[in-house]
Amino acid sequence: MDIFKKLKEYARQINEIEYSISSNKKEFLEIYERNLALEQEILERTQELDQANKAFLTLKHVWDLMNSSEPLANVLETLVNSLHGEMGYINSTILQLHEIDNLKYFQIRAYSDSQIYRLLNKFLHRPLSEYKLPYDISSPLVRAITEKKIICTKDYLGVINSLLNDLAPDQLAGINRLGISKNLIIIPLITSQKVFGVMLVFSPREDISDKEVNFLSLFANQVEMAITIANLFETIRKEAVTDGLTGLYNRRYFNDAINKEMERAQRLKQSFSVISLDLDFLKKINDMYGHSFGDLAISTVADIMKKNARSIDIPARLGGEEFCILLPGIDSAGAVVAAERIRASIEAKPVETVGHITASIGVGTYPQHAKNLEELLELTDQAMYKSKINGRNRVTVVSTEDDHGWQEIAIGAFADIVNKKRIPVPDNLIGDINEKIKATKESMSKDALYSVVDMISALYNPNAAAGLTRQKIDLATKLAQKLALSKDDIDKLKLSVLLYDIGNALIPEDIMTKTTPLSDEDKSKIHQHPLLAAKEILQPISSVTDIIPIVENHHENWDGSGYPKKISGEEIPLLSQIILLVDAYCAMTHERTYRAALSEDDAIENITKESGKKWKKELVDVFVGMINETKRNN
Ligand code: GH3
Ligand code: MG
Repeated sequence: MDIFKKLKEYARQINEIEYSISSNKKEFLEIYERNLALEQEILERTQELDQANKAFLTLKHVWDLMNSSEPLANVLETLVNSLHGEMGYINSTILQLHEIDNLKYFQIRAYSDSQIYRLLNKFLHRPLSEYKLPYDISSPLVRAITEKKIICTKDYLGVINSLLNDLAPDQLAGINRLGISKNLIIIPLITSQKVFGVMLVFSPREDISDKEVNFLSLFANQVEMAITIANLFETIRKEAVTDGLTGLYNRRYFNDAINKEMERAQRLKQSFSVISLDLDFLKKINDMYGHSFGDLAISTVADIMKKNARSIDIPARLGGEEFCILLPGIDSAGAVVAAERIRASIEAKPVETVGHITASIGVGTYPQHAKNLEELLELTDQAMYKSKINGRNRVTVVSTEDDHGWQEIAIGAFADIVNKKRIPVPDNLIGDINEKIKATKESMSKDALYSVVDMISALYNPNAAAGLTRQKIDLATKLAQKLALSKDDIDKLKLSVLLYDIGNALIPEDIMTKTTPLSDEDKSKIHQHPLLAAKEILQPISSVTDIIPIVENHHENWDGSGYPKKISGEEIPLLSQIILLVDAYCAMTHERTYRAALSEDDAIENITKESGKKWKKELVDVFVGMINETKRNN
C-alpha cells in the first residue's frame, strides 16, 4: 500500500475515533445531566420522606400519648414540645377556652420554649398560665374557632397584643425586633363538638403550603383525640372504687362510705370506728430493696387488712402507704381489738427478701372522740402519729382530753381581743362575733372556731376567704407531723396559724385596701405587723405568750431577706418557717383581684424556685412531697 493510501486510512480512522469520542462525549454529558437531575430529585424525595417521617413520628408520639393514662396537663405539654421544631417551627402553644358565668376567656395551658416566650416571661410579672386572656370576637383566634378552620396571619404581634394587654409598646417592639416569625398559624381544637381552644404555631416562613396545612390539621385531629382520651381516663379514674396495686377501696369510695356511715350512726344513735394505719420505715425498704419490694410490703399489709375485715368493713388505701378501715357499728374497745389483731399479723408475716415489717396505728370512734367527720379523721390520724412518735409498731386510741387545750386557749384569746378592743371591731359586728364565740365555747367544735377566725380576719384582710383557716391549719399540721414534731409544738403551731396575721388589724385600713403600688412608707408599716401582733395584741394575753416568738418571726426568710428583724437560717423558729411556707402556698392557690388562682403545680414550682433562699430547702422538699402525695390521692 502506498503511503498516501495509508495516510488516508489513518485519517479516516482518526475521524472515526473523533466522531466516536464526540458522540460519546455528548452521550456522557447527557448522562451527566440526567444524573444531576436524578440526584436533585432524590434529594427532594428524601427531604419529603424525611419531613413525612418526622410528621409520622410526631403523630406516632401523639398516638402513644393517647394510649397512656397521662393527666391532661402532661399530655398538652408533650404535644406542644413534639410539634415545636417540626417543619422548622419556632414555637407551638395550646390555649384553652374557658367559660364562667357567660364570660369567655383563654388560658395558656402549654407552650414550648422559644425566644418569644422567654422575652414575654421577662416582661410579665406573673407566670403566663395565670393570665385570663380576652376572648375578642374580632380576633383571628375566635374566627378560627367559629369558622372551624385553620387561619394564618402575618400580624402575630397584633394577636399577642390583643391577648396580653399588659405589654407596653416598647416590649412589643422588642418581640418584633426578634424578627423570627413571619406567620402565625391558628388551629382550632374541637373535641366531640365542644371547643377546647386553639393551637398557635409560629412559623418562620412567608408562605404556608397546602401540605403543611394538611399536616397541621391531621396533627390537630390527633391532639383532639389525645385530649378526649386524657379526659376519659380522668373520668374513669374518678369513677373507679378500688386501688390498682392492692385491690383495697380507694379514697373516694372510703369518703362516700364514711359519710353515709356518719348519717346512719347519727340517725340510729350508734357508734362507728376508724382505724388509721401507716407502714413503718417504708422509705428505708424502698431504698434498701427497691420500689417493687416496697410495693410488696404494701400489698402484704393490704392482704392482712382484707383478711381481718368483716364483710361490712371498708378497708381502704387512701394513698401511698396511708391506709384506713371503717368499722361500722363498732365502738372504741372493739376497734382496738381489731387494730391490735392487724398490727400483730403484720409483725408476724415476713415479706420476701425484706423480712419483718411493722405498722403504726391510730383508732378513733364516733361519737366518743369527735362529733364531726373531719375532726374524727384528724384525731385518728394524730393518734397514729402518736404511735410513730412513741416507737412505732403500736396502736394508739384518740384521747379526748388533750386536744381541746389549744382550741380553748384560742377561743379565749379571741374573746379577749374582741371584748378588750385590742383590735378595732365595728360595733355592729361585736354582737355577732360574741355569739359565735359563745357557740364555739359550748360545742368546742373546730368548724365553729375556724368560722370565728374567718370572721375576724375578714375585718383586716381583704383576701380572707371562708375555709382558708381550716386549709392553713390542715396543711401546717400535716407538715409538722411529717417532720415528727411533738404534740406540744403542733398545738403551738395551730394557735399561731390562727393569730399570726392579727397585727394587720392595727395597720391603717387605707394601706391594706390600696390597689395602687405601695410606697416604701406603706411597706414599712405593713412590715411592722408581726411585731404589732406580738407586742400590742398578744403580749397582754398571758395564755398565748408562748407563741409570741413564732408570730414575731413569721416573715423572716431563710436567707435573711425577710422582715422585721432580718434574721436567717436556724435562728428563725421552725414553726415560723412552717407558717411562712403554708401562708405563701395558700396565697398563691387562692384568687386575687389582680390574678387568677395558681394551680397546685404552679404554686409548687414558684416555691421550689425559692427553695434555699426564702425557705429552708429540706422544709420545701418535705412540703412538696406532701402536696404531691395529696394530689396523687385526690
Ligand atoms: P415512718 O415510719 O415515719 O412512716 O417512715 P416512712 O419511711 O414509712 O414514712 P414517710 O411518710 O416519710 O415516707 C413514706 C414513703 O413511702 C415515701 C414514699 O417514697 C413511699 N411510698 C409512698 N407510696 C408508695 C408506693 O405506692 N410504693 C412504694 N414502694 N413506696 C411508696
Ligand atoms: Mg410510713
